[in-house]
Amino acid sequence: MRVDILTLFPGMFAGPFSESMLKRAQEKGLASIHLHDIRDYTTDKHHVVDDYPYGGGAGMVMKPEPVYAALQSVFAEDGGHPTPAVLLMTPQGERFTQAIARELVEQPWLVIICGHYEGVDERIRQHMVTRELSIGDYVLTGGELPAMVITETVIRLIPGVMGSDQSAEEESFAAGLLEYPHYTRPPEFMGWRVPPVLLSGHHAEVEKWRRRQSLLRTAVRRPDLLDGMEIVAADRQWLSEALAEHGATAAQG
Ligand code: SAM
Repeated sequence: MRVDILTLFPGMFAGPFSESMLKRAQEKGLASIHLHDIRDYTTDKHHVVDDYPYGGGAGMVMKPEPVYAALQSVFAEDGGHPTPAVLLMTPQGERFTQAIARELVEQPWLVIICGHYEGVDERIRQHMVTRELSIGDYVLTGGELPAMVITETVIRLIPGVMGSDQSAEEESFAAGLLEYPHYTRPPEFMGWRVPPVLLSGHHAEVEKWRRRQSLLRTAVRRPDLLDGMEIVAADRQWLSEALAEHGATAAQG
């Protein structure tokens, strides 16, 4: 996968993109990430990238010409790739989810535009962007952090990026549920015990415990995720009892 990021602050990406998963993905040749400083595509002496909004009001708007020129330059580097998906980072976009990440990982080429100030001139959004994404209902200063979040979430789904001991299949949201709780050694710490089933060596029981914990967690924390989900009768029965018990425990404080 190739990812091109258009930004006014390429330096912000140095840390996250040169450590951990993103570093490994690039070293393994599974992803290549290219940063483009939008300011390099200005043609005036002072490299101006923003201007006052038509109609007045607070803030500045990113000028269309440098963003357009940066996009054209990136498109020209296609190296045989098909047309890229052009993603605009905006709090007004579709809310980014794991499901969208799974769609994006199917794309061989992503181009991400990071806004700043009041955002990018609307004509870029209208004519050059294929998808607008938000990472949540809050406003950040720029699109750099959202671009990092999206790049990392997508790239770690590329087959081979995660080690064999890590699996995207079992993670939260993969099957529509939150993941079950995890424990490691020691079996008892500060008097707090690991659930005995996990020490039993009984794989089928461990699987059942995990599935049910996953259901319970989701029902307690994100009941919206269970809407329309098929739950087998035995698990449904268990879940309603577990929820009643959870409610009683919560009420006791
Ligand atoms: N004036 C815009 C509005 O009210 O919708 C907000 C602009 S924000 C200060 C500057 C830039 O940060 C945006 O153009 C966008 O690229 C990025 N940004 C801020 N919050 C974001 C979010 N939740 N998701 C994605 N991008 C975001």
